[in-house]
Amino acid sequence: MASAFETNLATAERLLTRFRDRPLGHFIDGREVPGQSERLFDNLSPIDGGIINRVHAGNAADVDAAATAAQRAFPAWAALPGTERKRILHRVADGILARAEEIAVLESLDSGQPIRFMSKAAERAAENFRFFADRAPDAANGLSLPAKDHLNFTIRQALGPVAVITPWNTPFMLSTWKIAPALAAGCTVVHKPAEWSPLTAMLLAEIMAEAGVPAGVANLVNGLGEEAGKLLTEHPAIKAVAFVGESTTGSHIMAQGAPTLKRVHFELGGKNPVVVFDDADLDRALDAVVFMIYSLNGQRCTSSSRLLVQSGIHDAFVERLAERVARIRVGHPLDPATEVGPLVHERHLNKVLGYCAIAQADGATVKVGGVRAGEAGSGGNYVRPTLFTGANNRMRIAQEEIFGPVLTAIPFKDEAEAVAVANDVAYGLAGYVWTRDVSRANRVALKLDAGMVWINSENNRHLPTPFGGMKASGIGRDGGDYSFDFYMETKNICVALDTHTVPKLGA
Ligand code: NAD
Repeated sequence: MASAFETNLATAERLLTRFRDRPLGHFIDGREVPGQSERLFDNLSPIDGGIINRVHAGNAADVDAAATAAQRAFPAWAALPGTERKRILHRVADGILARAEEIAVLESLDSGQPIRFMSKAAERAAENFRFFADRAPDAANGLSLPAKDHLNFTIRQALGPVAVITPWNTPFMLSTWKIAPALAAGCTVVHKPAEWSPLTAMLLAEIMAEAGVPAGVANLVNGLGEEAGKLLTEHPAIKAVAFVGESTTGSHIMAQGAPTLKRVHFELGGKNPVVVFDDADLDRALDAVVFMIYSLNGQRCTSSSRLLVQSGIHDAFVERLAERVARIRVGHPLDPATEVGPLVHERHLNKVLGYCAIAQADGATVKVGGVRAGEAGSGGNYVRPTLFTGANNRMRIAQEEIFGPVLTAIPFKDEAEAVAVANDVAYGLAGYVWTRDVSRANRVALKLDAGMVWINSENNRHLPTPFGGMKASGIGRDGGDYSFDFYMETKNICVALDTHTVPKLGA
């Protein structure tokens, strides 16, 4: 009998046929179309560096066609009763689940993320659609704010066509996190996925169309960030940009969108601390520390990439950690046994490995890893999970987002120092605190510069809660009603009770 790995490889071969037969196009106004220029770019395999497929590089004409389609489709989609949008979005969720295996295998191949995590990608994405589908009928609801002579009530109305620009780390799930609430709110969408992982975005576009999302409501333009992405953020028909990616790209987008006064929502980088106090449940803390930096190849915005560990337990904790890190299984992303797969692109691999030299030059120790993994013979972007010790928070490995399976351990003396070190970075996305002292846990949580804090837990997401960061980690929040605040305009309607005196001029 074929192993699960062999079955995945065979599935991958079958699924790739369509992408190899012809270059991947855009999805505009209800169908896949080639680009209007002749230009293509290569989508490279993280596994062996070979070409997976070729992709049309969207240009101004493609972006304009997509934005115009979204603008045309907006009035009817926004006017559709919320109950109808709910029905259609649940069908999208059904369609995602029906193609779960296809999504998982293509996502793994394209991004290098291990199949053990990507097999959940469809489930999580379908949940996103169901969550916002259920809220669509009430999305317009607002507040009643009565005054002495007037009643005031607020309603929310869909903003218009919006751009969704996503990165390559978990592309399918992340895009649904933006597209589902936008569609539930009544907005139409133009999605620009990352050029390093474009495959599954086309599946989502197809699934949405098959589920009954009308033509023009959900469009997709492939292309390079500096070209297609930039043009989208400048297009006058686009009212807002929901962006997930690097902080520097966020700055560019804010500037690009300024002339047309775009509303922006940014989910950017992180350098998240996990603070382990000496009274913590150290077994659970160790599991969480390992999981939150080495799962998803460390290519995860909420990864806890800085381990702050109290001095008294530092050496013992780091020893146990080092043993675990050394045993992490690096391998082919489609092998269910793999815990860390190849990094998405050779450029990213070189960036990540470059931090080993930086660590050493700054005086830190490469305690584990820091080298390409044995699979390097294949030409793939494999790296050994890496642990830096002997570090302090002023070093570049403690300040800069590496975005790979790389952890920097730093000792601290007491609560005050833990908070000071945790906050001494440009970012402020997530923080993790491990202690059995409830009061200390809450004191630290209140003081951390982070949009999200988990106490005695790894990143566990509950969809109604706000997701987003402070400082260089972002602007705005996703989740629950927070998403609707971004994708909708709040309007106040003030109605007189005819009891007040209207001022008279010229009477
Ligand atoms: P990136 O910023 O390089 O690219 C993200 C997307 O922006 C891509 O689709 C790219 O083509 C596009 N883009 C690039 N330049 C553009 C421009 N000038 N105008 C418009 N679009 C442009 O990010 P990446 O390397 O793909 O992803 C990794 C980053 O994403 C990390 O910093 C990570 O922390 C961040 N991230 C954040 C979250 C979060 O929720 N905060 C989640 C996942 C990833």
